[in-house]
Amino acid sequence: MKAIRYEGAGKMAVAESDKPKLSSSTDAILRVTTSGICGSDLHMYDGRTPLKKGTVVGHEIMGVIEEVGEAVRSIKEGDRVVLPFNIACGYCYNCIRGFTNSCLTMNPEKAHAAYGYAGMGPFGGGQAEFVLVPYADFNCLKLPGTPGDQWEDDFLLLSDVFPTGYHGAEMAAVTPGKSVAVLGGGPVGLLAAYSSVLKGAAEVYVIDRVPERLDKAKELGAIPVDFLKGDPVEQIFELRKKNKGIQGSLRPGEEKLKGVDCVVDAVGYQAQPDKERVPSAEKPTQPLENAARLVNPAGGIGVVGVYIAPDPGGRTEQEKQGIYPIPVAELFDKSVTIGFGQTPVKRYNEYLRDMIVAGRAKPSKIVSHRIHIEEAPDAYDKFRQRTQGYTKVLIKFGKLAA
Ligand code: NAD
Ligand code: ZN
Repeated sequence: MKAIRYEGAGKMAVAESDKPKLSSSTDAILRVTTSGICGSDLHMYDGRTPLKKGTVVGHEIMGVIEEVGEAVRSIKEGDRVVLPFNIACGYCYNCIRGFTNSCLTMNPEKAHAAYGYAGMGPFGGGQAEFVLVPYADFNCLKLPGTPGDQWEDDFLLLSDVFPTGYHGAEMAAVTPGKSVAVLGGGPVGLLAAYSSVLKGAAEVYVIDRVPERLDKAKELGAIPVDFLKGDPVEQIFELRKKNKGIQGSLRPGEEKLKGVDCVVDAVGYQAQPDKERVPSAEKPTQPLENAARLVNPAGGIGVVGVYIAPDPGGRTEQEKQGIYPIPVAELFDKSVTIGFGQTPVKRYNEYLRDMIVAGRAKPSKIVSHRIHIEEAPDAYDKFRQRTQGYTKVLIKFGKLAA
């Protein structure tokens, strides 16, 4: 089968790979129809997370079941399904409590597993014609419709970035009427903003520098803030100060609420410093510094942007170990609640699917490119540079690629 293989930093190659075979009676084999390239794949592409050369990558996967093991009960050949990027057993202490992002049994090295990803266990990825699905009953979400229909791209986004944006909003405690700032207007940030709109937030700001992404934020109902135009935190303070509706309702003391109730960090450690025009410049603490300044006292911060260690690209010994100076005193002083980490996709994916089916959510508005597998190496390069409008790239397989 054709697959995308990691061949070293900056090199993703289309290669012939062995088609996976059932290895346990609880497995299934999925014929992939669509697979996403994720901002998380870029950490490997940039050589920041050690991955064995030759590994098939891709963790945003949907398709049609080709074959199931004899113990699989709820899914059968021909079913259309999407997979959470987390691979989970369903029976460990954490899975039972709903933390499928911290499954204790699937990865001997750590408490989490995923398809085709560094440090996430020995599983093959889904930027390929076929993929092996462990514990298929637990890890497949059944979908209505047929491949290539009006929902195909919406459903693909249920594998990761839609639930991840939603999880960021959830950890930041977004509820109706709240004010929200999302740091980063990549696929995750855009869908955190969209999730905040769906949750009924009153104001949603999105900070980024890429014009196409800021335009998309506006289209999704958010207020774009360009960090190349000056300190984005001050820009948001200013926008709120100029808003007569906000200022006219303040009681004494509430002038201290200059910022927002909820902040989502959808950038992570590869952040650029504010006002810096060179896209390769990095300041890993920029998102959390801005979050600490932006969040109002007693507010919430959801960190879904990735922070990793070891990081061979870190500029100091501390950065290489993922240790960063962040304004802890300010966060304590403000009594902020913070959540971190990978998304437990399974907590949200069926509800978000049902919003898509009911016509209440259309996350595929963020998709910019639909490509054939042969175009993937070039798409990785353009997505990494965030140029030419490469916001979200989906690889199409089989009949959908024609
Ligand atoms: P992405 O990397 O393209 O998006 C990041 C965006 O942040 C870019 O548009 C970039 O211009 C912008 N940015 C850079 N510095 C900034 C700054 N200082 N302030 C504001 N914006 C800044 O892709 P993505 O797919 O949206 O991924 C975003 C992050 O989310 C990545 O770290 C990715 O690994 C992570 N992620 C986490 C999970 C999870 O489970 N927690 C799942 C998927 C992705
Ligand atoms: Zn992803």
